Parts: sequence; structure tokens; C-alpha cells
Amino acid sequence: MIGFNVAPFTGKEFDYIRQAIEAEHICGDGMFTKKCNGWIEERTGTAKALLTTSCTHATEMAALLLNIQPGDEVIMPSYTFVSTANAFVLRGAVPVFVDIRPDTMNLDENLIEEAITEKTRAIVPVHYAGVACEMDKIMELASKYRLAVVEDAAQGVCSFYKGKALGTMGDYGCFSFHETKNFSMGEGGALLIRDSEHVEDAEILREKGTNRSKFFRGQVDKYTWVNQGSSYLPSDMNAAYLWAQLELADQITADRMKSWNAYNEQLKPLKDQGRIELPSVPEDCVHNAHMFYLKAKDLEERTKLIAYLKEAEIQTVFHYVPLHTGEAGKKLGRFSGVDRYTTKESERILRLPMYYGLRDEQVSYISERIKEFYER
Ligand SMILES: *Cc1c(COP(=O)(O)O)cnc(C)c1O
Repeated sequence: MIGFNVAPFTGKEFDYIRQAIEAEHICGDGMFTKKCNGWIEERTGTAKALLTTSCTHATEMAALLLNIQPGDEVIMPSYTFVSTANAFVLRGAVPVFVDIRPDTMNLDENLIEEAITEKTRAIVPVHYAGVACEMDKIMELASKYRLAVVEDAAQGVCSFYKGKALGTMGDYGCFSFHETKNFSMGEGGALLIRDSEHVEDAEILREKGTNRSKFFRGQVDKYTWVNQGSSYLPSDMNAAYLWAQLELADQITADRMKSWNAYNEQLKPLKDQGRIELPSVPEDCVHNAHMFYLKAKDLEERTKLIAYLKEAEIQTVFHYVPLHTGEAGKKLGRFSGVDRYTTKESERILRLPMYYGLRDEQVSYISERIKEFYER
């Protein structure tokens, strides 16, 4: 069976976890966490990056730091993972869903303005498949209406929009290092903070509402409870696992890109015949090969294709059930305008196996089976 995902592993993980243990610092903010934070800051140019226990938690932190209140409205796509909405729903906010663009599956920047009301507080673009949303337009609307922007860049580590790293343009950016993402620590993520004046509040929130970070830097002589907070910092053992991958990030990205390009090339004849659609990457975007997907004609064809590939020992998956159609979405959110593409496109999309170490001959085998399916 060719699995849909294999968690990234480079070989150095055991060694680094051992080093964390030998340094007698396995709790948060040890040497590996610092290395990872530093790497993200250097690679993205963000003012500050803080490793977190997940992207979900990074987004929750952003909602808390923005002081999102009950009844506030937050604009986001419905075609996304539940955490994008939950982080704000936990604060009593109402997710206002906007339709997606079928070419990138990202929220349609031209539909945002009509979703804005006097209650709107933030826009949450989700960079689907590591391909950027139209950030110039989004930032322009945010400044026109004085809204915050939280980028869900869970899938966008090492992706760029007009030369800017995803996660660095909005007030806050959220990365995921879950085992299904390009770089992993099992469960984990990072909060990227654009403006340095918000760093101290974020550190306090992440460290149980204390000024422990300042204490360790020697800036205060004891640490105390200074504000509301929680525990959003991962163990240094998890950070050690991640470090083994960040160190080889370019190699991992190049390897994934090789598979992505091979799929794209080998499936192009089917696209040219109009049988399937393939991902499109706008000119201004550099992506990270997080995902390779195709779009079948409709739900029925996709169901048959999944079964056909399963017979050939190939695991393919789909997502997301649009949030506004679920029980929670109906109760807690609302859709602005018409669902022209969200549901329709979500029923057509199929994700092919994509991971670090996927072999060329596996990509060819998968592509051949797909061609076979369409030739029958
Ligand atoms: C993976 C993912 C998340 C959640 O990441 P966790 O680290 O598992 O919390 C959020 N949003 C999107 C778009 C994702 O793909």
C-alpha cells in the first residue's frame, strides 16, 4: 500500500532527542525550541516566532492577543480545517464564511468586502496547499476597515507571496508541525508575531500568564503572575524532533517539489483532455509542495476513482466538509453570499500521496493508474 502520508523523518531525530534529555532540559523553551524559533525568524523575517503545542493553539493565542470578544465577527473560508473557526468560536466570536476561488481553493478576496459589518474584527486567510491567498488585496481591506489579519499558514511553511514568507504579512501567522505537514514534531506549531510590541504579551500568554520568559533573560529578578495565560509551549523533546527537519528543510522541500512536478507533468495529458483539473499556482506565489491534488468531474467520479486506486494499493484522501454545512457551523457561524464553489469543489478534490521520501516510481505508478481509470 502506498500510504497517503508518511511522517517526515530525517535520521537525526533520535540523536537530538537524546541531546535534549542529556541537557536535562526536556520541558519547554530549551535549546531546541530556541533553535527552531530562531530558524523560523531567520527564514521568514518575522519579528518573533514562538513554538507552540499546535497550530490550533497558535490560532487560539492570536484570538486571545487580539482580544476577540463575544459577538465579534471573523471572516474566513468555510473550506478549511475546524481549528481555523474554533480558535475564534472559543472566544464567542461568529465565523463569517466567504466562498473560495476554484483555482486555488483559497478564500475569494473579491468577496470579503461585502462580508464586512460593523462587528467584523478580523480576516483569517487560509493558505491552502501552501499556495498564498491574494494578500495585497486582503491587507488593503484590513487597513481600510481597521481589521486584524491572522494567517492560517498551517500548510504554508517555506511558501512565499511576492517574496514574503506566508505567516509574516498579517498581525499573526500560524504554522503547523503536525505529522501530516511538511515539517513535523508530532503535534506542534508556531505563532509568528509581525510587530515586536506584541511579543511580550504573547510570551506571557504562552507561559501561563507569567513573565517567566523575561525572568530567564535576566530582565526581572523573579517571575510572577502578570496577566491571563495558558500553557502553549511544547516540550523540548518535540522541538528536538522538529529541529532534525528544519535543518534539512531545503532538502525536504526539494524532494517534495520533485514529486509535485512529476505528478503535474504525468497527469497533464488528462488535464489537457479536460478530464481532470490540477492545482494552479498564481505567478506571485512560490509554494512548498505541501499537497498534490486533482479534481474529478464530481462526487460520483471521485468516489469511483478512490475505490479504483485503493484496489491498486494507493491510498488517497479528501477533505474538508465545508464548515458551514456541519452541525457546529450552522449553529455558530454564517455564510456570507452564495456558496458557489465551496461545496462543489470540496466534493471533487482528491489528494494524492505526498510525503518526504515518496519515490519517483511510486509517483509514476500512481499517475499511470489514474490515467488507466480515465481510459477505461
Ligand atoms: C493542519 C491544519 C491546522 C491545524 O494544525 P494543528 O497543528 O494540527 O493544530 C489548521 N489549519 C489548517 C489549514 C491545517 O491544514
